[in-house]
Amino acid sequence: TDPLSSVDPEIAAALESELGRQRGTLEMIASENFVARAVLESQGSVLTNKYAEGYPGRRYYGGCEFVDIAENLALERVKSLFGAEYANVQPHSGATANAAVLAAIATPGDTILGLELAHGGHLTHGMKLNFSGKLYNATAYGVDPETFRVDMDVVREKALEHRPTVLIAGWSAYSRQLDFAAFRAIADEVGAKLWVDMAHFAGLVATGLHPSPVPYADVVSSTAHKTLAGPRSGFIVARDMALAKKLNSAVFPGQQGGPLMHVIAAKATAFKLAAEPEFKDRQERTVRGAQILAERLTAPDATAAGIDVLTGGTDVHLVLVDLRTSAIHGQDAEDILHSVGITVNRNAVPFDPRPAMTPSGVRIGTAALATRGFGDEEFAEVADIIAIALMPNPDVAALRARVLALTDGYPLYPGLTSPGTW
Ligand code: PLP
Repeated sequence: TDPLSSVDPEIAAALESELGRQRGTLEMIASENFVARAVLESQGSVLTNKYAEGYPGRRYYGGCEFVDIAENLALERVKSLFGAEYANVQPHSGATANAAVLAAIATPGDTILGLELAHGGHLTHGMKLNFSGKLYNATAYGVDPETFRVDMDVVREKALEHRPTVLIAGWSAYSRQLDFAAFRAIADEVGAKLWVDMAHFAGLVATGLHPSPVPYADVVSSTAHKTLAGPRSGFIVARDMALAKKLNSAVFPGQQGGPLMHVIAAKATAFKLAAEPEFKDRQERTVRGAQILAERLTAPDATAAGIDVLTGGTDVHLVLVDLRTSAIHGQDAEDILHSVGITVNRNAVPFDPRPAMTPSGVRIGTAALATRGFGDEEFAEVADIIAIALMPNPDVAALRARVLALTDGYPLYPGLTSPGTW
């Protein structure tokens, strides 16, 4: 019954400092967000104590009557959010969801075809050190060298060349919408299953701001914690029950033992919030914020300093800054932005002429700040701060003051006195 601060003051101090960091900086890592207080409460709950191997109504442990309620709510809500007949909310993370998907629809040694990692794909789509690259014969399609967009003619050529068992659509660093109908047609032509990983843009799909992959894909995986603003974790949905048995057994017992019931309860809470009008408004502010950022970073003073934006803009929650002709590289940009209180991550651009540790890109996302309450006006200010920071000789102290004015104006978790105490 003793509080964390007396049981483990070192961890309490780390949590306190992290809360301070989140409050006092602008979080613009495209894969991050802030969960609602209600999600934090579900996740930090007694459900962490419960073993519940199996599925609701079919558990291998007693005492599951209440965690079954939580998991069934998560299942019903996520199915309704994405118009899916099948769902599995047990994956601990996006990576384990993806491992289960591949286990369900491919056999080790089979060919898979996904977006090249260096062009914005994800590790679990076939990177050679990842399980996906080790267990499967991973092949890739890239973006067009001129437009930096996925070219469906190239995807088709690669699919005809490699004849994959699984065609993968989805990305970690790409700023445009994918054409799921075209992916479906190619998958059908080569007899592949179509798997869409919507981890990044799930929040946009849930609110109708991005086409839904669900009607087209055989299976759709996702994380809950990016634009969807849920707890750090994964889930799987599918339009029908065709793969239900295979997917369920690939998750448990295939990949995992006991599900994290506290995280599943938090997913249920996040899915409930994602169906509310506030969430749609937030996703709209997210996309507009990214567009405002792209416009500012392609204004004449920015382009004169060698700053550009891949594809010239964005349809989603992120902007890919192109610094190939800038004096600074992505690591410099990450460091300068860190010094003014803006958190981003450096990123390779496709066909990057610079080395991996000092690549030519920066990935900047707007989801977390939209959750914090930012609208057009605030995003215009953020965009101006970023543009000036990336141009020669920025006044770091002045920019830091502008960042603090924004963070002070939009307090994060007001009422949270120390981590866990409201
Ligand atoms: N899929 C995509 C497209 C991602 O961008 C990510 C995370 O970056 C993942 C899967 C993996 O999610 P996790 O970090 O929860 O394993």
